[in-house]
Amino acid sequence: MRAILAAAYDLQWVMSTSPNHSHHAPRDYAKNPMNLYWEMTQSCALACRHCRAEAISTPHPMELNFEESVAFLRQIPDFDAPLPQLILTGGDPLARADLFELIDEARNLGIAVSITPAATPALTREVLVRLKEHGVDGLGLSLDGSAADRHDSIRGVPGTFDRTIQALRWGHELEMPVQVNTLAAAETVDDVPAIYELLKPFGIARWSLFFLISVGRGKVLQPLSPEDGEKLMTWIYDTSRFASFTVATTEAPSFRRVALERMREAGMTGEQIRSSGATRSYGIRDGHGIMFVSNTGDICPAGFLPLPVGNVRKDHIVDMSAIPRSSANSTILRNSKTAAASAITGRFAAALVPAHSRLREIRSRRTRFAFSIRANC
Ligand code: SF4
Repeated sequence: MRAILAAAYDLQWVMSTSPNHSHHAPRDYAKNPMNLYWEMTQSCALACRHCRAEAISTPHPMELNFEESVAFLRQIPDFDAPLPQLILTGGDPLARADLFELIDEARNLGIAVSITPAATPALTREVLVRLKEHGVDGLGLSLDGSAADRHDSIRGVPGTFDRTIQALRWGHELEMPVQVNTLAAAETVDDVPAIYELLKPFGIARWSLFFLISVGRGKVLQPLSPEDGEKLMTWIYDTSRFASFTVATTEAPSFRRVALERMREAGMTGEQIRSSGATRSYGIRDGHGIMFVSNTGDICPAGFLPLPVGNVRKDHIVDMSAIPRSSANSTILRNSKTAAASAITGRFAAALVPAHSRLREIRSRRTRFAFSIRANC
């Protein structure tokens, strides 16, 4: 049932322990997002084959500088309470020299902060201790293979698997809530059960399988076939019932259907299914629970839906919060054939048609980071 609930929220990052960040407090997602992703930099020492951010080794020349970053952070408290959780991503957030000053600024503003660092030599135990001391609530790590050869071949740099496993150990020792993100693609699907076994001892809070949608460098990898996607979602549902941590999906809105089918097959009544939470919170989360700010300040519905509606250099993020969804939707409507085809995975993917029914399908099938591998790293 954990996975069903996770998928129902499907907000990708639900581990905050901050009293300022209640996931159950009522809020209007169209105006008050739950998760605000900030791509602090495009710079990253890794070269992952599927990188949404198309990370490079140096910062973008138009990256928000320290003063601009602080100005952006100071906009966030203008959202209604509860404030969105800020998730620092990249690129590699550890590549920002002013990272800890910006974390302090956010925490002083009452904003809950989580982070998704890249597994480079910069990710040391001392850094994790510092992150914890500075009030970071959660840590996101990526694991795309159960062994070094498989993980490192996706991540592009030898040694990344070992560093990730070491960071998992440290996170466990330091009692930091850890979310592990795993790419679900043709290149990784056969390894998913072994990755699950590998994760068991690390006391993680949540494991999220990100179904590949080809954006950024993700275009070089292959999405799951509809048949493999269906099998994997069934496996995820069955595994989630016994896992010691939350098992969830991202970019796999079809998972709700699979979960409902499995519940019906198990003889659950309609009332039991409704009370399980599986039918709550349908719909796309991009721009509706989720917002994304790029390293250059562009405000988008999500990192995997790169359709800027403004820029924090000149626009207030609260004023833009209701816009991303409508903008994204109108763009989807205008470009339904390409946008929808690239956005949807699962067994109905081939059945896309007129724009209005397409949008309905997207709403019912996608959630959260709709258009890609999400979680960035
Ligand atoms: S996916 Fe993340 S870790 Fe990999 S290159 Fe991109 S930013 Fe770096």
